[in-house]
Amino acid sequence: MLAQGGAALLPEAAEAFAPDRLSFTYWYAADPDQPRVIAYDAAAHRRNWAELEGMVAEIDRLMAAGTADAWPLTDDLAECRRCAYQALTGRLSAGEAVLEAPDEDEPPLDEWLEPQWG
Ligand code: SF4
Repeated sequence: MLAQGGAALLPEAAEAFAPDRLSFTYWYAADPDQPRVIAYDAAAHRRNWAELEGMVAEIDRLMAAGTADAWPLTDDLAECRRCAYQALTGRLSAGEAVLEAPDEDEPPLDEWLEPQWG
């Protein structure tokens, strides 16, 4: 979004928002000397923007269809307990998130924050 619209926020420095000049840095307090920097570039931006436009077009298509079935709620309340949108979809009654024992096959939480490429 910064690459696409950043220049509107700061037109006098529009070139600062060129995709090749942007990066994202994860900085962990527990590992302050090892920031994880994710570079960005024009090719990645074209792919991301095309994906976002596709999503918006799909939302527009579903909205234009005007069917309530376009946005079905899951029948799996376990999903709702983990979902941040409970209040928005009327699923607060699904209850609080239930803590689960960690799956030993899954990476530690801090690895979940790392981007998965490829
Ligand atoms: S609470 Fe989340 S998972 Fe459950 S129906 Fe709503 S959006 Fe879907």
